[in-house]
Amino acid sequence: MRGVVLHGPGHVRVEDRADPTIQAPTDAVLRLAATCICGSDLWPYRGADAVTEPTPMGHEYVGVVEEVGDEVTTIRPGQFVVGSFFASDNTCEICRAGYQTSCVRREPVGAGGAQAEYLRVPLADGTLVSTPGVPDADLVPSLLAASDVLGTGWFGAVAAEAGPGKTVAVVGDGAVGLLAVLAARQLGAERVIAMSRHTPRQKLALEYGATDIVEERGDEGVARVKELTGGLGAHSVVEAVGTQESMLQAVRATRPGGHVGYVGVTHDVSLPGEELFFSHVHLHGGPAPVRRFLPGLVDAIWNRRIDPGKVFDLELPLDEAAAGYRAMDERQAIKVLLHP
Ligand SMILES: [Zn+2]
Repeated sequence: MRGVVLHGPGHVRVEDRADPTIQAPTDAVLRLAATCICGSDLWPYRGADAVTEPTPMGHEYVGVVEEVGDEVTTIRPGQFVVGSFFASDNTCEICRAGYQTSCVRREPVGAGGAQAEYLRVPLADGTLVSTPGVPDADLVPSLLAASDVLGTGWFGAVAAEAGPGKTVAVVGDGAVGLLAVLAARQLGAERVIAMSRHTPRQKLALEYGATDIVEERGDEGVARVKELTGGLGAHSVVEAVGTQESMLQAVRATRPGGHVGYVGVTHDVSLPGEELFFSHVHLHGGPAPVRRFLPGLVDAIWNRRIDPGKVFDLELPLDEAAAGYRAMDERQAIKVLLHP
């Protein structure tokens, strides 16, 4: 099969790779209908994460089940399925508490490289959620978004306790931040402040229900959020970047007693203890347990109540993945969908 392999900073190639096979009796192999490039793929692409050997890329996927192992009982060949970037049994105590990305048996699905024609998914029964039937082509991007960016934005909004009567600020205007705006509104937030200085992203944030746009960053961004909230700060802030500046911006834009939901993969972030102590801010986040939200998100997409697929503003054949990485790296595209 064809698949994307990262060889070093800025150097991705689409190559012939071995077809995945069933390795454990709980596995499934999918023929992918669509896959995509994630903001987090840019960390190794930019050299911020070390690349020591050729690495298959991609962890977002939707597709049709080709084959299942002997112990798989609920997932069947022919089903169209969505899954998350960590495989989980969905039965252990941690999963049942809603933290499937910390499942005691978790395995990274991305290790197999989802930017490819086929993908092996471990723990198929616990990991995959099937759709009611084969989706119309126009639903595929939205179902693919549910695999990571929608589920992650949703977790960010839930972790920040977005809800009725709340003012929610979102730090980060990548796909996750934009979908956190959508999630906050769906969860009933009264006011959603999107922090973005890029016109096309501001436009999509407004379409997804943002009520205010703040272009300033850092301390100026914090000051603007306070101005918009009677000097107090937002009740809920979603952090969807993962840098020192964005984490501090999120903490400082939150009112005492408020909640930060952090879902940007942190890189070299350290928080000042004394400031944190006196802030009275709740912090919760981490790798989003997308599996917790998947059944509800698939239903909302299937019934066309939400349209998260709009974050894909560039679609390319899998073989042109390198151009897709460049477009995301240069911020010419919000998110790139690849057709295997
Ligand atoms: Zn588990």
